[in-house]
Amino acid sequence: MAAPSDALAGSRPVERALFVDRDGTLNPDLHYLKEPERLELFRGVGGALSLARDHGYVIVCVTNQSGIERGLYTANDVDRIHARLNELLRAHRAHIDAFYYCPHLPEHGCACRKPGTLLFEEARRDWNIDFGSSAVVGDRGIDVEAGRKLGLLTAFVPRPVVAEPAASGNDDAGADIVASTFANAVMRVLARG
Ligand SMILES: [Zn+2]
Repeated sequence: MAAPSDALAGSRPVERALFVDRDGTLNPDLHYLKEPERLELFRGVGGALSLARDHGYVIVCVTNQSGIERGLYTANDVDRIHARLNELLRAHRAHIDAFYYCPHLPEHGCACRKPGTLLFEEARRDWNIDFGSSAVVGDRGIDVEAGRKLGLLTAFVPRPVVAEPAASGNDDAGADIVASTFANAVMRVLARG
């Protein structure tokens, strides 16, 4: 089944991608969000994604959405949230080119749930992405870990501190870039050239 895209790869431009996590990175994590109208962007996210696009990056969102298998929302709800996300980004001349999500429970041990890399590899095939000139930005060690396995530049942005203990896995996992805001992380990715 891979043959058509492999055949195309030779004639298609090689893209560099900015892989971004969703909850806690682009938007406050509302824990198993189902309703698109509750979604908000963190400040500076739209402008940063617009700038990345101007620099020639394809913007790819890779997100773990185990709420689907938990029965808390459906794949259709996730699609509606992603449509809403792009609607909010439009005001900033920004756009996420593609969304990839894992619907599985952690205990399945699937290859697509981050820090698994399957969804990144799917994106590479779909978009002809060169991992060596691409980057990932996320708020969890699992984002960094996935990126490192693939040779991506890794950027960690801790989610804004709230009145609860740090979530497990919320450490920088030795990221190449540790930034205080999403916009700052993107600037530093772009500064790489
Ligand atoms: Zn999965």
